[in-house]
Amino acid sequence: MTKVVKFGGSSLASAEQFRKVKEIITAEESRRFVVPSAPGKRFSADTKVTDMLYGCYDLAVKGKDFDKEFEAIKARYNEIISELGLDLSLESEFEIVKACFIGKAGRDYAASRGEYLNGIVLANYLGYSFIDSADVIFFDEKGQFDPVKTGRVLSERLAGLENAVVPGFYGSMPNDTIKTFSRGGSDITGSIVAAASNADLYENWTDVSGFLTCDPRIVDDPAPITTITYKELRELSYMGATVLHEDAIFPVRKAGIPINIKNTNKPEDPGTLIVESTSQKPAYTITGIAGKKGFTAINIEKDMMNSELGFGRKVLWEFEKNGVSFEHMPSGIDTMSIVVSQDAFADKEQEILAGIHRNCQPDSIDIETDLALIAVVGRAMKSNRGTAGRIFSALAHAHVNVKMIDQGSSELNIIIGVSESDFEAANKAIYDIFVATKL
Ligand code: ASP
Repeated sequence: MTKVVKFGGSSLASAEQFRKVKEIITAEESRRFVVPSAPGKRFSADTKVTDMLYGCYDLAVKGKDFDKEFEAIKARYNEIISELGLDLSLESEFEIVKACFIGKAGRDYAASRGEYLNGIVLANYLGYSFIDSADVIFFDEKGQFDPVKTGRVLSERLAGLENAVVPGFYGSMPNDTIKTFSRGGSDITGSIVAAASNADLYENWTDVSGFLTCDPRIVDDPAPITTITYKELRELSYMGATVLHEDAIFPVRKAGIPINIKNTNKPEDPGTLIVESTSQKPAYTITGIAGKKGFTAINIEKDMMNSELGFGRKVLWEFEKNGVSFEHMPSGIDTMSIVVSQDAFADKEQEILAGIHRNCQPDSIDIETDLALIAVVGRAMKSNRGTAGRIFSALAHAHVNVKMIDQGSSELNIIIGVSESDFEAANKAIYDIFVATKL
């Protein structure tokens, strides 16, 4: 049995956190390959080492003095090393990094040192081999991740090792310069290492016990989601429920490896298991609720719209031409609504409206702003009768006016549009009817 374990920045922010991490890793022999992030925040007003590195490098590039900022970064590592009592000095590494900052080795290089140095510290602490990700994770000339070359080199390298630490977030370009994934990208490295080592499970250790059924800023202490499918996760992440980098899903999903989101500070919690499919019934009819504010609906009316061939295409073309993508499109017989992000639409509003008037000749266009969308997601909805009915009666009881309803063809979700001012009340009402009352 092989597990790949990735630890996020808050799990490795201090010596105390490192101790928890070691305890978790050594508790199971199967936890063979470890992917660390850079040290994150120790407290909420703290700064992540990655951000310190970006800031420091920006000074270096401008030719400004960056000694103080660089010393602060060194101090983060040295504090961990001394508190853990390790026989390790990063002095020569720091010298190289500093010289490369002066030599303008690139912002990606700068940011990647957070994971690189943390990987060296963690490997020393665990007594594991250290693999520099620049030697095993590759990008192509265009800066796209190269799964073929990476898969080949990385699996070969891991095959010869019982244990190893592979730092997250970066790899190398064909010209040997360093490139990082986008922010939060250590999740992607973990997924790549899991696929390359044919792991049975990818454990992603963070500071929350997985996904929750509702936003904890809206509902106090919401129930956790124990098992979720990739499709459900996609629906919830789209609405802003983020724990995991979106691009981290592909490598493991393709290899059929489940992901378990776990909490370093509460390792006994089961966390959330993300799987392709499952026969496990969710605890409730719905798996989760997530939502976002900041939408605008453009409601278009035209008599006999349904029989006018190409009407929808012409309307959508006006949005496409102006680079505004639409999020949803509920329609009636002679009406259609295009729901877009309020900010994206605001910039192009007049061009789009003029275009629709000119090219589609609608009877009327009405614009509704300050909308919020709420996705109620659940694989069990398909086989349960009355789900929509329960949602709408709960909303009616809470005096929430529903402005839009959109059900995906997969019956995996129901999306509801409400006024932004009703957003919190709507979330609470849906949570209460399904989760709090265990229906
Ligand atoms: N350290 C990087 C960041 O802060 C990558 C990561 O933590 O996943 O974005």
